Amino acid sequence: MNDKTLAIIKPDAVNDKKAGEIITMISQAGFKIKAMRLVKLTKESAEGFYEIHKGKAFFEELIDYMTSGPCIPIALEKENAVEDYRKLIGATDPAKAAEGTIRKLFARNIQFNAVHGSDSDENAKKEISYFFSGKELLEIYPG
Ligand code: UDP
Ligand code: MG
Repeated sequence: MNDKTLAIIKPDAVNDKKAGEIITMISQAGFKIKAMRLVKLTKESAEGFYEIHKGKAFFEELIDYMTSGPCIPIALEKENAVEDYRKLIGATDPAKAAEGTIRKLFARNIQFNAVHGSDSDENAKKEISYFFSGKELLEIYPG
């Protein structure tokens, strides 16, 4: 079922006390919260999560950023979740993000951009499984 995505409220937004407002925006856009937790990523876990970006110029800074404080991974459910959530957050660079999007409202720049969103159904499942397991994961992906 292509109706799940992984959101992360990143350390900048948590530190800026924007988590509440962001969760409200996500909920009001019709997403159901299936699982959520507060976690401070280790270097190893951040590197694993962003493995796809290893070797890129921004990789080391991205790992420093993502391990700089607690973040809030959230498993979301909605019809067309991946695409609709990426529309809600806006472009990676807030300067290019549409008005009213989460990144337009809360991101500082292309690096400190407040939130993560999965980019495909396949990656959504991988990323959700990165943070949630056991009974919690079974409730997100039953059967
Ligand atoms: N990032 C960065 N510089 C860049 C591109 C990306 O610091 O030039 C960071 C940014 O925090 C971004 C994350 O790396 O959200 C992952 O990049 P990706 O291209 O996957 O963007 P996203 O899928 O988050 O929009
Ligand atoms: Mg991405």
